Order: sequence, then structure tokens, then C-alpha cells
Amino acid sequence: VTAAMIERRDALLGPAYRLMYEHPLHIVRGEGVWLIDPDGRRYLDIYNNVASLGHCHPAVTEAICQQVKVLATNTRYLHDTILELAERLLATVPETELAHLMLTCTGSEANDVAYRIAQVRTGGTGVIVTETAYHGFTDAVSKFSPSLGTTVDLGAHVRTVPAPCFYHAEGADLGERFTRDVEAAIADLKRHGIKPAMLLVDSVFTSDGILPEPAGFLKGAVEAIKRAGGLFIADEVQPGFGRTGEHMWGFQRHGISPDIVTMGKPMGNGQPIAGLLATADALADFGKKSRYFNTFAGNTVSCAAALAVLDTIEKEGLIQHAARVGKLLRDGIAELASRHEAIGNVRGVGMFVGVELVSNRATRTPDREFTTRVVNRMRDKGVLLSACAMGHNVLKIRPPLVLSAEQAGIVIEVLDEALGFVAQ
Ligand code: PMP
Repeated sequence: VTAAMIERRDALLGPAYRLMYEHPLHIVRGEGVWLIDPDGRRYLDIYNNVASLGHCHPAVTEAICQQVKVLATNTRYLHDTILELAERLLATVPETELAHLMLTCTGSEANDVAYRIAQVRTGGTGVIVTETAYHGFTDAVSKFSPSLGTTVDLGAHVRTVPAPCFYHAEGADLGERFTRDVEAAIADLKRHGIKPAMLLVDSVFTSDGILPEPAGFLKGAVEAIKRAGGLFIADEVQPGFGRTGEHMWGFQRHGISPDIVTMGKPMGNGQPIAGLLATADALADFGKKSRYFNTFAGNTVSCAAALAVLDTIEKEGLIQHAARVGKLLRDGIAELASRHEAIGNVRGVGMFVGVELVSNRATRTPDREFTTRVVNRMRDKGVLLSACAMGHNVLKIRPPLVLSAEQAGIVIEVLDEALGFVAQ
């Protein structure tokens, strides 16, 4: 069945779409942490950072159903759900000067709009991102998404800095190093006559290999970009909505105040909604120069889903839960290191776990092929995940926040088996 389906898909959708796995999965249903194929086989989904409350969470499903029966659009008219959502999101960032919400349909669009705001505000075009970052797929944003690799050239106005990795730079002061790298990038932009517009950072450095530690290290870099007249943009598409198990947003562990925060993925638990929070100062000139219009962004149904997501995070205590079960997961995987030489490092925060696999612990040499085989073996054993980092050798583990301690045990058990199987 799957082979025929792939052929049909290739014929109909063309060659640009990518599927996960050499033997792609056909999924017909999602239920909590599980994805289910047509034969009823259940896969534990620790890949997906969209259905963060679990697939088809009843509170979100109910909110969507209620709203879609009443009003399913909003374009250019006042409606309550978007205002309530703005109030609720702004209430999560009392320590900042963030004052306004703008909605989009995707994280890429949110970063695209953020970049436009930064250009208008600063009069510059220069962008600083990390070396293996992914920020989205629009024409402008892909030019500062180096993880797209050879498919898109970085812009001449873009500079990259290494993400701060304590595993490969043991003993270094990561904050100081990151600040120095950002300052050097600012100086290089200026040397080429390019005014810096923004430093754009995912505070968990997802594509760079999941590198959240130590908390607070972003401070110096944020001060540096602000001194240079640029904006600091926190890309919260990955760490946002409680995933770090500490706060609602990843940047909050750094004690910094962004000019703009972009968000998406888990925001509607599957409903397409994304957006940004911006300070009044950042938006003032943009508001005068541009009019923002986006047909589907901020539609009532997506807003209702996002409100249900915020309610559920609070009601089910998911931030605290993410901290507790995330720690169990990291500790359990760290214990496997005594039996599996390939585990070089286990790290993360909350429900964000990175497991770096190496061919030699002493030299810390990335083992991409081994990692790919572990990912495939785990899929065969019913656990879905992927790999990240420049060497494609870090297992990227992002379970739904509702993952139970027992389900964390399944992840550890299956990883244990897969590491043994592949090492044979
Ligand atoms: N920023 C980050 C950090 C992301 O991980 C992604 C998506 N993987 C995006 C932005 C883009 O989001 P979207 O795919 O919704 O456009």
C-alpha cells in the first residue's frame, strides 16, 4: 500500500516535498502521544513539536468545533477572540516591554514580518543567526536559515555565529564567547557597509543541536546588538509554550527583554496559527509605513484553538510536568551511557532532549551514519524522532508535554535496544 501511495504522491505533488524515513509512514489517526497507521500500529511520537498537548487534545478539538459553528473568519472586522488571545499572550511576558500581537499562519511568516519590522525600525538590513539555524522558508527568511544547506544561498547581508556548545568547547565561558562572536559579526557587517537590523536566536538552538545551557548566556550578545542599533528577536517557534519546563518562553531563562518574540508550531496544537509579540517602539514606524494584511491569520477558529492551548497548559500544569518528566527522560538516557559507547552527551531542558552520538568519545567525532540507523531502528520499534546539528548526529527528542513517566520509560527502553542493535 505504501509504495503505491508514494508513487501517487510523487505523481501528484511533485519532487519538492520531503517525507521522513526511507520507508515513509502512512498515518491515519493521532491520539495523545500516539500516531496510528492503517493497520492500527501505534507509534510514540516524540518528533512532533506541534501537537504539544498530545494529538487531538479534546479541549482544543472542542474549542475548534464550537467556534467553527459560529464564525470562521475575521478579515478586517473586530472580533473578541483575537483580543482575548492578545491579552493572554501579553500577560505571559510581564517583565518585558512587549505590547502588541500580530498574527500569521506560519512561523516562517512570523520571522519574515519580524525582519521587515526590524528593517524599518533600524534602517539596516544586516542579520545575525547561528550556524545551523532554521528560521523558515519564505524568500527573505530562507536567506538566513543556514540549515537549508546548499538549497539556498545565505544573503550577503547575513552573518552566522557558532551556537554555544559546552560539549565541544568544554571549559569555555560560553556567554563571553557568544558575545564576542556576535560583536565580531556586527563589526564585519559594518566593515562591509551593512547596518545591523537584528540578531535572531532560537534560545534552545534546536537545529544547532539543542544547546540551552547555561541559562543567562545570551545577555551579552543581546546588549551588543542593541548597542549597535539592531533589534533582538527571540524565535520561540521551538522553545515556546512551556517546552522548557521553566517558563512559557525559552528566552525567559536568559533574563533578557526581546524587541520581538516570534512563535508558531504548538500555538494551536495543529491548527495553523503563528505570530509575534513586539514592543510599541519596534512597531511604531512599521505601523506608519506599512499596512499589514493576511487573509487567514488571526481567524476566529485558530484563535479559539490557541486560547484552548493556553488554558490547557495552565489547567494541566504542563510546564511543571514537562520539567519533571523531561528530567526523568534525560536521567534515564544518561544512565544508558555506561552501556553504550556511542552516547557522547545527553543534554536539554524540560521536554527538549538532545543525545549526541559519536564514533569516539575521546575525540567527540560526530557519527551521522550511526545516528541515522538509530533513528530508523527506533521507528521500526515504534518510536518516532529525528536528528539535528551540523553533523546530523544529535537525536532530537521533543515529546508532547503530556508524555507520562511510563511513556518516558518506553523511549529509554527503545533507545537502549536501538543503540545495542546498531552497534552490533
Ligand atoms: N523557526 C524555527 C526555530 C523553526 O523550527 C521553524 C520550523 N521548523 C520555523 C521558524 C518555521 O516555522 P513554519 O514551518 O511554521 O513556517
